[in-house]
Amino acid sequence: MHRAHTPPVGAHVLTGRGLATGGLSYADEVGARAVQVFVGNPRGWALSDGDPAQDAAFVTGCAERDIPAFIHTPFLVNVGSPTEATVQRSVASIAHNLRRGAELGCRGVVVHAGSAVGEDRYEVALRQLHEQLLPVLDAVPDAGPRLLIEPTAGGGRSLAATVEDLGPYLAALEEHPAVGVCFDTCHAWAAGHDLSVPGGMTATLDALEATVGAGRLALVHANDSLDECGSRRDRHTTLGEGSIGGGAYGVGPFAELMAHPTMAGVPVVVETPSELDGSKTAGHTRDIGLLVALRDRAAAAA
Ligand SMILES: [Zn+2]
Repeated sequence: MHRAHTPPVGAHVLTGRGLATGGLSYADEVGARAVQVFVGNPRGWALSDGDPAQDAAFVTGCAERDIPAFIHTPFLVNVGSPTEATVQRSVASIAHNLRRGAELGCRGVVVHAGSAVGEDRYEVALRQLHEQLLPVLDAVPDAGPRLLIEPTAGGGRSLAATVEDLGPYLAALEEHPAVGVCFDTCHAWAAGHDLSVPGGMTATLDALEATVGAGRLALVHANDSLDECGSRRDRHTTLGEGSIGGGAYGVGPFAELMAHPTMAGVPVVVETPSELDGSKTAGHTRDIGLLVALRDRAAAAA
């Protein structure tokens, strides 16, 4: 596999001391070749401005390292909500994060697909997505970040949990060119895709590409799960230690992930526990190392 097609592997990085001072030094420490960050409190609505010095150092630092960067929006965002104030705050948050993503040279801004909350509100919620997000997407500059829809674990009448759910979701957004997809292995497992058996991950990624088309997949969150397939629960754990990669097939599901043709050039980040054996970062170092080894083995076999 040509290097440009090789999926870079990294992590969601903590940025307590600033995007560059905290985030990039963390990335270096764990060997991350792709980064995902929050640009504000992930559990609040505040739209935080950047620190100009940290922003500039982050842009330069990512370019020097040749690592793609992504932003994850706060967890409260739900454009499908029945509560008008939540819809408006969500749209403002997405627009803000896209603006920050453009300032920071990010490739994508990840947003959870959201939920209709009520079982009978699915069609209404998809209409809300259409009406509220198309103007935001139209405002994204050509070289700006794409908005990456991440299917969730399910529950609350999720607007997209299985990969097939992305079909009507992207149709509601008129398959806008500024939209991409973020695939989370733990969420897909929770939504009922059996990734733990031989061929399970491959079949799921085949179904994903069949649903959204080539080139839409822009980021993968590689996480193992503490819960069973179809549980609709979202608790991440270290790769190979959970119910996806800790069974009879071992880390085979993640080997299939790193070998799949739809992954060409698509960055992978882990959102697994960073702490391991008393070290604050060894968990990420280990998970990144595992995915790189699986990727390189697949490339050598190709
Ligand atoms: Zn995720």
